[in-house]
Amino acid sequence: QRIIAAGATREDDAIEASIRPRRLDEYLGQQPVREQMSIYIEAARGRAEALDHVLIFGPPGLGKTTLSHVIANELGVNLRVTSGPVIEKAGDLAALLTNLQPHDVLFIDEIHRLSPVVEEVLYPAMEDFQLDIMIGEGPAARSIKIDLPPFTLIGATTRAGLLTAPLRDRFGIVQRLEFYSAEELARIVRRAARILGIDCVDEGAVEIARRSRGTPRIANRLLRRVRDYAQVRAEGRIDLAIADAAMKMLKVDPEGFDELDRRLLNLIIENFDGGPVGVDSLAAALSEERGTLEDVIEPYLIQQGFLVRTARGRMATVKAWRHLGLKPRRDSEL
Ligand code: ADP
Repeated sequence: QRIIAAGATREDDAIEASIRPRRLDEYLGQQPVREQMSIYIEAARGRAEALDHVLIFGPPGLGKTTLSHVIANELGVNLRVTSGPVIEKAGDLAALLTNLQPHDVLFIDEIHRLSPVVEEVLYPAMEDFQLDIMIGEGPAARSIKIDLPPFTLIGATTRAGLLTAPLRDRFGIVQRLEFYSAEELARIVRRAARILGIDCVDEGAVEIARRSRGTPRIANRLLRRVRDYAQVRAEGRIDLAIADAAMKMLKVDPEGFDELDRRLLNLIIENFDGGPVGVDSLAAALSEERGTLEDVIEPYLIQQGFLVRTARGRMATVKAWRHLGLKPRRDSEL
């Protein structure tokens, strides 16, 4: 298990439930998203209508699931949570949709992984609140139409480009989550520490925030690992020195990169002379899946200016060479 992996784990689930924001004012950062959503939510409530369908995209751990919980809470409706790969058949989707109460929210995580057959059923459901499904097989097969209660679909995906155009077009509201600033993450860490009863001084919170790859899930996880360290080595109090020492033990460097990040940058620089190199070659050399590389590892390295995506492949920037303690190639223009 990668300590700074952005994906959810079981341990997360239990503790996360206690620190996951429930209202918009507890959902920190993402200012433009919050502002827009508060208006759309209030407007939908004022008209006593279901909120328009919402598409949320952004790298793992940035708060897509949390935002959908917040939206449902603010609307005062139930939330049903599922994910693309779980809905195997048209009937699975039909069962979910027919069980909704008027104005409920259905959250579909990894919505880009819906099968084409299921997607076809989703279109009229989103557009006209109508279910159009085939029952039976062969000559006895017939199509039936069922009216659905008006509902809100919230779809989440890591990259907008993964969605088919017809599906994307059916969302009235599209929100893109950005990496959080260190200040925002420090507020998230302080809030989590307060709820979990962790003694964390400001400098400690800031240090954890700085190394969390702009990602709340990672910040919350690092907080818990640093707490363990503090409990055994420092009577439970997290300050700058303890946070720093714990990060050393966890092999999370001052930029918040772990060994996999460093291996990736090192690979591009040492084996491919800084790039450009195709993502498939990198994935093969690292024994990682291409999707993991593109969705989980690269976005933050790119956002922080350590890596660039060019038409011919990935390239390490001067910042990356320096970070690894290497002298940039003379002709390196990046
Ligand atoms: P995603 O669905 O994008 O993978 P989650 O919504 O599961 O990410 O977020 C991971 C965790 O990070 C949540 O359980 C929550 O505790 C925390 N979190 C996410 N966004 C925020 C936020 N805006 N403010 C505070 N905590 C957040």
